Parts: sequence; C-alpha cells; structure tokens
Amino acid sequence: MTAGMIGCSASGRRDWAVALASYAPAVVQRYDVAVIGAGGAGQLLLLALACADLDIRVAVVDPVTRTGHDRTWCWWGAGAGIAEAAVDSSWRHLRVAGGGSPEVVLDLDPLRYRLIRSPDLYRLVGERVAAARRLRVDRYEAAAADDVRGAGEEVAFTVAGEALSASWVFDSRPAPPVSGGRVHWRQQFLGWVLPAQAVPDVGEVPFLMDFRTRQPTAGLSFGYCLPMRDRTVLVEYTEFSPEIMTDAAATAALLDYLRLLGVAGDVRIDAVAPGAVTPGAVPSHVERGSIPMTDARFARRAGERVFRLGTAGGATRGSTGYTFAAMIRQAEAVAAALAVGRVPAPPPAYPSRHRWMDAVMLRALDDRLVDGPAFFRQLFRRQPIERVLRFLDGASTRGEDLAIMASAPLPAMTRAAVLTALAPWQSAARNARNAQAAPSSSRVSRRG
Ligand SMILES: Cc1cc2nc3c(=O)[nH]c(=O)nc-3n(C[C@H](O)[C@H](O)[C@H](O)COP(=O)(O)OP(=O)(O)OC[C@H]3O[C@@H](n4cnc5c(N)ncnc54)[C@H](O)[C@@H]3O)c2cc1C
Repeated sequence: MTAGMIGCSASGRRDWAVALASYAPAVVQRYDVAVIGAGGAGQLLLLALACADLDIRVAVVDPVTRTGHDRTWCWWGAGAGIAEAAVDSSWRHLRVAGGGSPEVVLDLDPLRYRLIRSPDLYRLVGERVAAARRLRVDRYEAAAADDVRGAGEEVAFTVAGEALSASWVFDSRPAPPVSGGRVHWRQQFLGWVLPAQAVPDVGEVPFLMDFRTRQPTAGLSFGYCLPMRDRTVLVEYTEFSPEIMTDAAATAALLDYLRLLGVAGDVRIDAVAPGAVTPGAVPSHVERGSIPMTDARFARRAGERVFRLGTAGGATRGSTGYTFAAMIRQAEAVAAALAVGRVPAPPPAYPSRHRWMDAVMLRALDDRLVDGPAFFRQLFRRQPIERVLRFLDGASTRGEDLAIMASAPLPAMTRAAVLTALAPWQSAARNARNAQAAPSSSRVSRRG
C-alpha cells in the first residue's frame, strides 16, 4: 500500500499541495462499502454481502486477522439465517436451576438455542466471499482504520497512512456510548471447554442459568454449561456486576462451579498432557469476556454515510449482553437495502420500549430492589418460554411486554420504573445547578 501523491510543477503550488497532502492524503482506492472492524458484526455483514452477491467493491479493515477461536457465540431463534452453515451445536431444551427453587426445563420448540465457534464463522465468511462471483473484497489486515470523515457522497478514511474512501462505511470499532446512562455494569465470564467425561453432572440438557453458584455481594452470578456434539462441554462462570472481576477471582469461581458439577481433582490450565481427563483435565479452549450491560445509549449513525454496527452501535442487549441475533438481523437488513439501492441504515437493534425496560431492570438490580437470581427464575417459570425469548430478542408485542413486567415483583419494579423515568429530569436539574455554580467557581479559579 502506498500513500497518494499530488504532483505539481509550480513550486509555490507544490508547497501548498504538500501541506494539504499531509493534512488529507489523496484517495488512492475507492470502494462502495467499507467494513471497519471485522469482529462479530463486521464478519456477519461481509457474510450477508457475500450471500447476496452484490456487485460492489468492499474494503475490510481490521488490525487483527481473525481466524482462531476467540469467541463462542450462542443465541436462540427459529433459524440461523445466513450463519446456518457455521452452527456447531443446537438444543431444543435448556435448564434454569438453583437458588432454592426446583429446576425448570425449558422447551424452546420451535426455536433452538444455537452455538457457533468463531473459527467456523470466519471460515464460512471466507468461503462465501470466495464463492461470490460479483462481490470484490480487499482485506486490509494488520492495519487500523483512522480518521473517518464524510464529505458529500464519499467517506474518507486512512489505513496505515493510505487514503481510502467509500460510499458507505460500517464501523464496529469499539466506541463509547453517546449518552452517559446511569447504570454501567459488565457481564463478565470465564469458561473452559473440557472433555465431557471430566464433568460428570452435566447431563444432556444445557444449563442456561445455574444459580447454584456463590452470589457476589453486588450483582448476580450463574453457571452456564453446554454439552456439545463433539463430547466436550463448555462450562462457564458468569457475573452481572458493577465490579471488575479479576482473573484470579474468575478462576476461583469457575473451579467452585466445576466442583459443584462433580469434577474430581483439579482442572489444569497448563496443558501438560493435552486431552487428559480427570484428575487434571485440560481445557481445550478458554473463553473470557466482558460485555457492557448499561442503560447508556449508543449511536447507530456517526455521519451521513457512516453507520455503527455491533456493540459499538447498541446491538448488545442491556439486560442480558446477548448481541449475536441483533447483529445477524442488522447485517441481513443492510445487505437487503444495498441490493435495492436504499440507504443502508441498520435497523434499531431493539425497540425503544425494550431499551426502557432494560433500563428499569438494570436500575432495579443496581439499587438492589430485586433479587437477581429470583427475578430471572420467576421470569422463566411464570411465562411461556417463547414469550420470554421473544422479549429478550426485542421481538415481543406490547401485550407480551406487559405480561412480562407483571411477572416481576410489582412494588420493586414500579419504584425502579419511577426512578428511571425521573432520571433525565434529575440529571437536567443537576446540570442546571452545576451551570449556575460554574461562573462563580471559574471566577474563583481566575482570581486564584
Ligand atoms: C468471549 C466472548 C463471547 C461472547 N459470546 C456471546 C454469545 O454467546 N452470544 C451473544 O449474543 N454475544 C456474545 N458476545 C458478545 C458479542 O456478540 C461479541 O462481543 C461480538 O464479537 C461483538 O461484535 P462486534 O463486532 O461489536 O465487536 P468485536 O467482535 O469486538 O469486533 C470489533 C473489531 O474492531 C476491530 N478494531 C478495533 N480498532 C480498529 C481500528 N482502528 N480499525 C479497524 N478495526 C478495528 C477489532 O480488532 C475487532 O475485530 C461475546 C463476547 C465475547 C467477548
């Protein structure tokens, strides 16, 4: 890749041109679409573009070349859409257990809970792009995109100093929310993939939420356990919490959960004898993550022709951390819009009333108005599972939303709803007070 040059003969003009070039290098490559960030959202968009085989030029930019197992994505739905061929395992039944209540086995039919390992998605995307006859893709690997700026019909950006432009940019680089929000929790987890025979009490039905884990002082925790087709099990310890969970704390909590599942002896993470089983089972994969759970708002649009996708664009559901289903929906919608020449704006990941309900729930958890494990258990026990899953996907009707709200402890949720509704006024009043106080404090500082 070479940076563009501006050639001029008159020396005065050359100085000017050189100065301008250092400010904004000449565009050397033009694209119809730029996919900036090729993680979950970028890969799914590329997959959707390849499946539609659009007659367009696409630039894909990511400093990380993604081929390996860096994510295990799970979600539910009637089908996996464009990602179907990458699905590793799927389940009709799930379990919710613990916290003094009898275990609930959920029958998801006609939906399925699905699992994709990232290498399978990355491979599928590569295959579909290679098979697409009209789509032309240039990958800018090991290089970061920078300086994304829209002007008229083009969006300019740089990659390792080289100037590129595109008609539409889809940007999934990590970005902070645009509104502050009040609750900033994280969903943090540590999971290990172990040989199935190392985990005796796992059974055939996956645990979606196993609240028998030790509960943290702030937030809630649960185990998550997926017996997979290849006779391995993904066992995960998850915390929804305002606190940062250290690696040591996560490891200790996961080991506790493994003991609860009947794992005898220590599970080693130093692979002395790969494939060995208990005592000393060796994880074949370690899954560690931290996902935002917040009522802050993320922008879906960062310019006339720049859209944000993925977590950076608000695709992560505030109350659960699930993101994958929304990323598929948005990728498919963007490709469909491009195919017919419409503005390819990704649709909102979730309806605004669901974002409001997420804010109420986060507030209830944050203010400790509800007991987290009890809240989720009641949700799954009192409501038809299809309704709960539609709700968690942002696809439920208003009537269903009301029914879901009614299954939560009413006084606590009412209080949280009132506090959430008052929050914008409270923050406006706080800002006004601060603005009134500001001139006097600046006078003080000037005098000082
Ligand atoms: C370990 C893990 C497991 C998860 N499991 C699930 C799950 O089971 N179900 C679910 O629904 N969600 C899950 N999530 C949440 C969510 O689905 C993932 O985080 C998903 O990868 C989000 O996609 P994204 O594109 O928004 O972010 P990412 O996948 O993080 O992609 C962002 C990309 O931007 C790139 N980038 C950064 N800076 C630049 C730059 N300057 N120029 C170009 N590119 C740049 C990064 O290298 C990265 O590849 C999981 C998250 C993690 C971390």
